[in-house]
Amino acid sequence: MRAELGKLTQTCDWLAPNTPKRGKTMQDQRSTRGLLLAALFLLTIFSNEVSCKQPKLYPQPNYETKEYWTRDAQQSMDRASRVLQQLRYSAKNVILFIGDGMGVSTVTAGRILKGQLKNSSGEEASLAFDEFDHAGLIRTYNMDRQTPDSASTATAFMCGVKTNGYMLGVNQDAKLGSCSTYDSRQHDVVSFLKFASEQGKATGVLTTDRLTGATPAPAYASSVSRQWQDDTDRNTDDSSPDSPEQRRRCPDIATQLVDRAVNFTVLMGGGRLKLLPKNVTTMDQFGGVQVNGTRSDGINLVERWSSLQRQLGRRPVYVETADELRNLRADQADSVLGLLSTEKMRYHSTNIRSEGYREPSLADMTRKALEVLRKNSNGFALMVEGARIDSGHHANQAQRALYDVLAFDEAVQVATEMTSIEDTLIVVSADHSHVFTIGHYGYRGQPILGKMVSKSSDGSLQYPALVPRHSESHSAEDVALFARGPGAHLFQSVHQQSYIGHVIMKAGCLGWYARTGNCLQDPESATSAATVDPALPRMVRHRLQSMDRASRVLQELRYSAKNVILFIGDGMGVSTVTAGRILKGQLKNSSGEEASLAFDEFDHAGLIRTYNLDRQTPDSAATATAFLCGVKTNFYTLGVNQNAKLGSCSTYDSRQHDVVSFLKLASEQGRATGVVTTSRLTGATPAPAFASCVSRRWQDDTDRDTDSSSEDTVEQRRDCPDIATQMVDRGVNFTVLMGGGRLKFLPKNVTTVDQVTGRTYRGTRSDGVNLVERWKTLQGQFGRRAQYVETADDLRSIQPDNVDSVLALTSIADMQYHVININSSGYREPSLADMTKKTLEVLTKNPKGFALLVEGGRIDNGHHGNRAQRALYEVVAFDEAIQTAMEMTSIEDTLIVVSADHSHVFTIGYYGRRGQPVLGKVMSSEEPLRYATASDGMQYTAVSYGDGPGAEVGRPRRNISEDSPESSYDYRYPSLVPRSTESHAGEDVSVMARGPGAQLFHSVHQQSYIAHVIMKAACLGWYADTGNCLKAPEAVSTTSPGDIPTTTTKSAVAKVSRQNVSLIMSAAALIVLRSL
Ligand SMILES: [Zn+2]
Ligand SMILES: [Zn+2]
Repeated sequence: MRAELGKLTQTCDWLAPNTPKRGKTMQDQRSTRGLLLAALFLLTIFSNEVSCKQPKLYPQPNYETKEYWTRDAQQSMDRASRVLQQLRYSAKNVILFIGDGMGVSTVTAGRILKGQLKNSSGEEASLAFDEFDHAGLIRTYNMDRQTPDSASTATAFMCGVKTNGYMLGVNQDAKLGSCSTYDSRQHDVVSFLKFASEQGKATGVLTTDRLTGATPAPAYASSVSRQWQDDTDRNTDDSSPDSPEQRRRCPDIATQLVDRAVNFTVLMGGGRLKLLPKNVTTMDQFGGVQVNGTRSDGINLVERWSSLQRQLGRRPVYVETADELRNLRADQADSVLGLLSTEKMRYHSTNIRSEGYREPSLADMTRKALEVLRKNSNGFALMVEGARIDSGHHANQAQRALYDVLAFDEAVQVATEMTSIEDTLIVVSADHSHVFTIGHYGYRGQPILGKMVSKSSDGSLQYPALVPRHSESHSAEDVALFARGPGAHLFQSVHQQSYIGHVIMKAGCLGWYARTGNCLQDPESATSAATVDPALPRMVRHRLQSMDRASRVLQELRYSAKNVILFIGDGMGVSTVTAGRILKGQLKNSSGEEASLAFDEFDHAGLIRTYNLDRQTPDSAATATAFLCGVKTNFYTLGVNQNAKLGSCSTYDSRQHDVVSFLKLASEQGRATGVVTTSRLTGATPAPAFASCVSRRWQDDTDRDTDSSSEDTVEQRRDCPDIATQMVDRGVNFTVLMGGGRLKFLPKNVTTVDQVTGRTYRGTRSDGVNLVERWKTLQGQFGRRAQYVETADDLRSIQPDNVDSVLALTSIADMQYHVININSSGYREPSLADMTKKTLEVLTKNPKGFALLVEGGRIDNGHHGNRAQRALYEVVAFDEAIQTAMEMTSIEDTLIVVSADHSHVFTIGYYGRRGQPVLGKVMSSEEPLRYATASDGMQYTAVSYGDGPGAEVGRPRRNISEDSPESSYDYRYPSLVPRSTESHAGEDVSVMARGPGAQLFHSVHQQSYIAHVIMKAACLGWYADTGNCLKAPEAVSTTSPGDIPTTTTKSAVAKVSRQNVSLIMSAAALIVLRSL
C-alpha cells in the first residue's frame, strides 16, 4: 500500500509543484502523501475522482516587493489615527453583519478564495471588512456550553446578555423548552433593533436563513426554544418538558415576527412556509413546484402582516420573487416583508450557477433594504445575516461555505458604499466558529479549495472530517470582529459577545444608554470613567469599563515607547489561545471559558496575516523575519529578503539580502537588548533577531555542512556562517541571550551535562570552535562583566547589578515542556517566567531603555506531536511570563506586543458542556453526566487535529472509551490526516498590545507590520533617521514625516502628503480633547 501511495504521490503531485525554483522538501512529500491518504481512506466516495491533472497555482502579485511591507505599514498607521475623528460623532445608523459560523479560519479561506476568483494568488486579497478600521476578538461561549449554538449567541450580540443554548431573546433564568415556567417580564431581553424601532428609527432584519431562524429571531422574538419556528414545530416538540397545552401559551416565532416586529421597516429572508397554513399553497420559484404551508393554526401570517401594517396607516409591500424585489420602489413602500424562499435561501454557489430562476443575493437584499431604511430622518438599525456559511460547514461542504462568505462580503461592500463612515457604525462578526481548518504548508496561490473540488460543479463535494457526525460541529474558539464608523473604536480587545449589543446601543444611543444619557457624544460632553456608577449591575459595569479602556488610546498617543517587548507564542493560533485560556481557568478549578489570559486584558487587538512570500501556510523562520525585521520573505529563510534563495550560499549577498531586526537597531542605539526562548537560541524564531541565513537548518556548522537539500557544494556553503556563530559575533552587543541549544555552541570534543537526565553529551560543532568561550572573550574585550550560566540555580543567583551581559544556555537542546518540567521530581529547568524576570532585571538597568523578544517556543512542538496537553500548558507558561513582564514594567513607557507566528490545524468544538475539561472527552448535555458519542457510536475529544501522528492509518477511528486523555501529557489527540508531524495552519493569528503605540494595532495587518509599529513606537531605524516616531502631539504637528523609503512613484508621494495631513489632524484633535 505504501509503495503504491508513493507512486501515486509522484504522478499525482497536484499540491506541490516540483519546480527547481521552489526547492521541494521532504516535508512537502509527506504533506502530499498525507492528503492523499486522507482522500483514499476517509473520502472513499471521492477517491475515484482523484486524477492526475497538472498542478495549478494562482499567480502571485508583483507588488509584494521588500519595499511594499514598509508602504503597507504606513497605510495601516494612518488608519489608526482615524479613531480621533470617530470619537467625535455618535452613530445615526447602525448595521450589524453576522456571518453565521464565520470563524477566523473561514475568514482567511474566504479571503483567499475571493482573490483566486480574480486570478491572483489570493492570500494578499482583502474582504471588504478586512479594510475596516477596528478589530477585536469575541468570546462566544454560552452560559451552559463551551461551544455555543446560534440562538444564544444571537441573543448575546443583539440584546447584550449571554444565555443558555437553544433559547433566544430570554435570559439564563428561562428554562429550555419550558413554556410553563416562562415569564416574559422576568425573562425577556430586548434587542437593539427593538429599541431602535421604539425610538422611531427605521429597522431591518435580513437573512439567507428563514426569518424565523435562530440568528434573526432574537431581533424581535423571545422563545424558550429556537425550534418553535411555527406552531406545528412547537406543538410536536417532544423534547419539551411541557404538555402540548402548556406550550400553546407561548407564541411561535413566526407569529412573533408579525406581531412583535410590527414596527420593523424591512423583514427579508427565507422561511415562507412557516407563515402560511397547511391549506395554502405557494410557489417554490427555484424548484418550480407548488408547496403547502406548514402552520396548523390555519392563520395566514402574510395576510395578517399586510392588514396590521395598513391598520397602522402604512403602505406595506410584500415580495416573494427576485423580480418583485427588483421592481420594489423604495419611495412607495413604508414597510417591506420579503419571503424570498419557501425554506432557507439557496447556497450562493448553487444560486449563481442556476440556469433558471435565481434568488436575490444577500447584496441585492441589502441594497434594497438600505434604499427603504435610509428614508427615515431619525436613522436606522439593521441586522444582516449570511446564514449559509454555517450550513455549508455543517455538511463539510467547504466550497458552499466559502462562496457564501463571498456573498456576505458583497453585501458588506454594498453597505459601505451606500452609507457614510461619519454617521454609520458597521460591525461585522460571527456568532461562532467551526471545526474547519486550512493548513498543510500549501504553496502560495494554491487553490484554496484543493483540486478535488474542481470536479464538482455544484459545490456539494464533502471535505474530509475526523469524527463522523451527521452534522459538522461549531467550534469554541474566539471569532473576529471588524468595525468602522462612530463607536467602532470601542472594539479594541478581547470582548464578550454581549459587548457587541452594548457598543451598538451606546453608539446609536439606544435603550438604557439613551435613558441615562450615557451615549457616544462629542468630546465636549463625553463622560469620563468616573461616571461608571458602582451601583450598576456587575455585567453592565464591566461593559462600561471595557469602553473606558478604549478611550485610553488618547493618552497613549502622547508617549513614545522607551521599552518594547515582543512575546511570540510559537504556533499559538486563535483556537490555541481560547483553549489555553479555558485550561488556565480550569487549573484554578473554575469552568474556564470566562477566564482571562494576561494578554486577553490588553487594550488593543488586531489580526495578522501570516502567509509567507511563497507559502499559503508559513514556517517560523519566514514569519519571524516579518515580525522582527518588517519584511515578508520566503519559507525556511531568515533575516534575508525574498531575493535570497533558500539554501543557496553561493548566490547570497548580505548587502542586497539582509534585513535588520528591531532588536539589532535597538542595540545600535545603545539600548539594552534581550532574546529569551524555550527553544534553541539558534531556532527559527529567535534567529532573525541577530542572524541572516539562507536556511533555518544551519543552526551549527555541522547542520550546514551536511545539508543535502542545498544546491551548493559544501565549500560554497562554508562562506555562510552558521546561526550559532552569528549569534556570538553579530549578537555581540545583545545584553541577554537566554534559551536552549547548548550543543550547537560546543565542539565535538567538549562534553556538557544534561541537567535533566544527568547524562553527558558532546557538542555538535565540527569546526572545533567553543562558542561559549568565544562569547566570554569577546565580551571581555568590550570591557563588560559577562556571565555565562547553565542551571536554574546559577540563573537565580545572577546579581543584576554585577553583570553587563548574560549568556544562558539552559538546556542542551530545546527546553523541557512546561508540563513535564513542573511535574519533575528531580532537576527543574527555569520557567519562561523565571527567565523573563531575570532578563528584565538586567535590561531595566539601561537608562536608554530596552528591546526584548520572548518566545514560548514549545507550544508549537506540542501541537506538532498532536500532544495538546503539552501545547496548552506551554500557553499557560507563556502567559505567566507575560504577567511577569506586565508587573515589572509600566504601561506608560513600555509597549508589550503579544502575537503568534502562525496557527496550527488544531480545533476545539463539538458543543461541549460549559466547564467540561478542555483536554477531555466531550460530554453530552443531557443528565446524568455522560460522554457524547458520534455516528459510529464512539466517543470523541473536545480538541483534535487536522493532521499529525495521532491519525489512524488504514483503520477506523480509534475507540477512546477506555482513554482518559486529560490525565497524560503523552496522550496524542486524534487527527484526520496521518503525517509524522502535525502541520501549521494558514489562518490569521491575533495580536494583542498595550502601552505606547499599542493603538496602532487595530485591524487586519500584515505580519511585517508588527516590526514597523515597534520601530515607530520605540523610534528605531528608519523611523529614528527620519524623525517619523511616535511622539507627544505638540511635536507631531511640526514634524515632517520625510520621505518614506522607496517612495519614488507619484502615488507614494501623494501618500506622504496625505499622511502629513492626517498627522496634523490628529494633533489638532488631541489638543481639543486635552483641553477638556
Ligand atoms: Zn450552525
Ligand atoms: Zn512549527
